Order: sequence, then structure tokens, then C-alpha cells
Amino acid sequence: GLWLADEAHLDPREALPALAASLASRGVRFAFGAAVQPQTLAADHVIDCRGLAAREALPDLRGVRGERLLLRSRDVTLHRPVRLLHPRFSIYVVPRADGLLMLGATMLESDHAGPITVRSALELLGAARALHPALAEAEIVEAAAGVRPAFPDNLPRLLRRGRVTHFNGLYRHGFLLAPWYATQLAATLAAPAEVEA
Ligand SMILES: Cc1cc2nc3c(=O)[nH]c(=O)nc-3n(C[C@H](O)[C@H](O)[C@H](O)COP(=O)(O)OP(=O)(O)OC[C@H]3O[C@@H](n4cnc5c(N)ncnc54)[C@H](O)[C@@H]3O)c2cc1C
Repeated sequence: GLWLADEAHLDPREALPALAASLASRGVRFAFGAAVQPQTLAADHVIDCRGLAAREALPDLRGVRGERLLLRSRDVTLHRPVRLLHPRFSIYVVPRADGLLMLGATMLESDHAGPITVRSALELLGAARALHPALAEAEIVEAAAGVRPAFPDNLPRLLRRGRVTHFNGLYRHGFLLAPWYATQLAATLAAPAEVEA
């Protein structure tokens, strides 16, 4: 196990609407459901943060598939994330509201976004039971999979090309790194054009 005294966690499903509401109250307008091409937008600055959909502009971007399970346990209560470090399979369990536990996540070199596989579910659940035997009695509430956008070095990039700034490659740490990169992005926009950072 790994104990990080200052570690924090959030629930993305609560964080994103809260962020959107905060931005809307400051005059930011959202156009949900609109598929746009950055080059065709008439704007002084365009920030392209389309994730994997930006591969035509960022050819070395790749997908890393991640699968996770949502459990509900009456017997195991956590107040902070717990990580199990194992040479073959590492997991983390993150407490959510209402007794829910988020169990994740696989890392597969694939951009397939389909549902979780039997193999991954077995591995995640086996590791969870090793973490705490009482998790064997937990209910499986949800299973999901996503694809993380990543560059070959797994580090995010801010790449300014004229009036379009590509911000991508957040890999496993989009929520963790977003505040720091937002500051960098603001600095990039303030810098003279034609700079690639
Ligand atoms: C199982 C799993 C667990 C994870 N756990 C964590 C974690 O614990 N901590 C953490 O920090 N990160 C975690 N991540 C990673 C995090 O989800 C990603 O780093 C983050 O989602 C990347 O954000 P993004 O906005 O760059 O890309 P995305 O989340 O992929 O968002 C891109 C958006 O662009 C939209 N889009 C695409 N094309 C267009 C278009 N033409 N016009 C308009 N919109 C478009 C898409 O619909 C999408 O909404 C996890 C990921 C997975 C899969």
C-alpha cells in the first residue's frame, strides 16, 4: 500500500457539472452536442481539447483503454483512496458518496471503447478481494470503460499552432493535472503566436 498524506479525491460526475455551472455564472457559453473542427472556427483563439478525436492533428496520440467497476459495500467503509501496488496488477479503490467504491483501473494499449471484458472484471475483482475479503460481498453497481488520450511519453502537451492551441495527452491524470495545465495554457495564449510549447 501507498500512503500519501495530502492526497485528495473527487467524483468526476459531480465535479464536471459544478465546474460548468461555475463557468456559466461567469458568462461562459457551452454548445453541447456540437462537433466542431478547430480550423474552421472563426475565433481569435481556439483551444483544441478533443482528446482522441484530435488524432488527425496529433498523429502520435494513442488510446490507452481503462476499465473500472463501481461497487457498493455495507461492510467496507473508506475515507480516502487506497492503492494496492502489485507487480502484475495494481488497483485503487476510491470512496464515493452513498457507500459506493470506485475500483479501477486497467491500462490496455487499445483505443477500443467497448464494454469491460470478463478478463478485466475478473482481475479487478480478484485484486479487490485480496485488498479486503469483505469486498467479496459487495454489489457490482456499474461497469464502464473509457479510452485515455496519451502521447508516447505519457506526458500532456500544449502545442500552439498559430491561433489553434492543442491541449492533449492527459493520459491517466486529466483531473489531477488540469489546474496546473490551465495556468500553463493561459500563459501560452498570452505568449506571441508561432510558439510551440
Ligand atoms: C477508467 C479511467 C479512470 C481514470 N481515472 C483518473 C483518475 O483517477 N484521475 C485523473 O486525473 N484522471 C483519470 N482518468 C483520466 C481522465 O479521464 C483523462 O485524463 C481525461 O478525461 C482527459 O481529458 P480530456 O478532456 O483531454 O479528453 P476527454 O475526456 O477524452 O474529452 C474530450 C472531449 O472532446 C469531445 N469532442 C471530441 N471531438 C469533438 C468535436 N469535434 N467537437 C466538440 N467536442 C469534441 C469529446 O466528446 C469529449 O467530451 C481516468 C480515465 C479512465 C478511462
